[in-house]
Amino acid sequence: MAHLVCGDPTIADQAVSIVVRADVSILLLVLLSLLLVAAVLTMLFQRRRQRGLYEAERQLREKLAEDARRVRFLLDEAMDGIVLTDDGGAVVEANRSYARMLGYDLDVVRHLHIWDWDVRLDTREKYLAAYPRVLREPGQFEACFRRADGSLLDVEVAHSPVLWDGRWCSFSVCRDVTERKRAEAALRQSEHQFRLFTEIVPLHTWMTTPDGQAYYFNQYWYAYTGLTPEQSLGRGWIDALHPDDLRETATRWQAAVQAGEPFMVETRIRRHDGTYRWFLARALPARDPDGSIVRWLGTSSDVDDIKTEQSRLEASLASRTRDLVAARDQAETASRVKDIFLATMSHELRTPLNSIIGFSELMLAGIAGDLNEEQQRQLEIVRRSGHQLLGLISEVLDISKIETGQLVLEPEPLALAPILEEQRQAFEIQAADCGLALEVRLPDPGLVVLGDPKRVRQVLGNLLSNAIKYTDTGGVRLWTAREDGYVRVTVEDTGIGVAPEDLPHLFKPFYRAASGRTRQRDGTGLGLAVSRRLVLAMGGSIDAASEPGRGSRFTFTLPLAGAATD
Ligand code: ADP
Repeated sequence: MAHLVCGDPTIADQAVSIVVRADVSILLLVLLSLLLVAAVLTMLFQRRRQRGLYEAERQLREKLAEDARRVRFLLDEAMDGIVLTDDGGAVVEANRSYARMLGYDLDVVRHLHIWDWDVRLDTREKYLAAYPRVLREPGQFEACFRRADGSLLDVEVAHSPVLWDGRWCSFSVCRDVTERKRAEAALRQSEHQFRLFTEIVPLHTWMTTPDGQAYYFNQYWYAYTGLTPEQSLGRGWIDALHPDDLRETATRWQAAVQAGEPFMVETRIRRHDGTYRWFLARALPARDPDGSIVRWLGTSSDVDDIKTEQSRLEASLASRTRDLVAARDQAETASRVKDIFLATMSHELRTPLNSIIGFSELMLAGIAGDLNEEQQRQLEIVRRSGHQLLGLISEVLDISKIETGQLVLEPEPLALAPILEEQRQAFEIQAADCGLALEVRLPDPGLVVLGDPKRVRQVLGNLLSNAIKYTDTGGVRLWTAREDGYVRVTVEDTGIGVAPEDLPHLFKPFYRAASGRTRQRDGTGLGLAVSRRLVLAMGGSIDAASEPGRGSRFTFTLPLAGAATD
């Protein structure tokens, strides 16, 4: 502008003024533009800032929500019930466990008051009276809650006062202890019953610590000993023992306690009047599941009467045993004397008896002159009786010899056929006189047994004479059979038979069947007893079988000669 040259100053001024005005306008325009740009920039900047703030706020809110969710989760998953109540007793918040504990939905719980479930504080007034105490300081108590269904729940409550929204509230954690309480009650009950039981049994019952210090005696102990608990407990009870038993009892007790093994001892315990009675003391260790001894349980039962009775019985048994031994010795002596007597007497009797028989037979034969009929009849009786007596004496002598082991047998190889034929001839007439048939089946002449000929004849004679004696009609059969190194000889009859109850006893000395039909016939009951002993002594056996009214079968065996080498 400074270069503008104009000859007219007014024009120049005007021009200058126009130029100046034009410059201001431009300046203003520029300024306005700048302001506009600044305003736009500011606006943009503010918008951006606001957007940043919004984002930060959103993130913060999300984080808070997440934290709240986590806290809620922890609260709900907690096993214990958790509740926040205000100073008016209303529930501010609770977790699911608490709602479950009470049996309500959580939404319902949020509208309840403490007196709706707390049995002790079941009215608003009671609650409000107790509440300030609860608010003041943290604490713990046991309570009973009534559930939605009316059932009761034992709970343990730990509470502490907290400031919430500017009000003092109570934050409580509640644990259901119903089961524990029930178990404790059951334990108490069982303990009570156990104590009751130990009191009523007529025994001393006692308990000790694992190391053997007594801490309990039942009343029966105190009543018996007259001691006080102070005198009895610990190791005081030892003073009640008899001085002679004290040492052993204490030692055994100590050993049982140390080994953890059952204890048992018989010991005398002093009664309140100073007398001592015998007791059987026993104890067992009670162990916990790990096997450690928790206590010893013991009893002592009064066995004094039993012991006295036992001693009396032992004394009487000893004296009885002495008597029995003396009686046995006496009996043995008597038996020996009897055997000697019998042997001697039999011998002494047989000599005159043989004279009687011999002379009566001579007289019957008419050697001493003729006899009339009556004399003959009477002499025949004398002869027969003499024979019977001789038979009896021989059998008694045999038995006594066998019993005393004095019988001497002379076994030899013996052909049976001739002996059986001999017996047939001997009994033929007797059988015929009785109207009986006697059938003897003779064995092969080569059948040879080992036996004493005299004794084999004696056994055969006994069986045949019995068969004829005890048979009224029919007959008697005799036969033999070989059998595993033995010969079995059988005598069978069709006689009166033997009752089953008599059969097992037939071979006992002097045994005769009880039936009248047997008793009608003469006999001593010795024949079979002697026969059995003889057969056994010759290495055989003898047996009887019978059917009453149909007949009997007696069999005996003898070893075949040379059987051992067969
Ligand atoms: P007893 O001298 O009495 O005949 P035994 O010892 O020979 O004595 O017989 C014992 C008992 O056995 C007899 O009393 C009789 O009861 C019974 N007895 C023996 N043999 C026979 C038999 N063959 N039939 C029936 N009973 C018999």
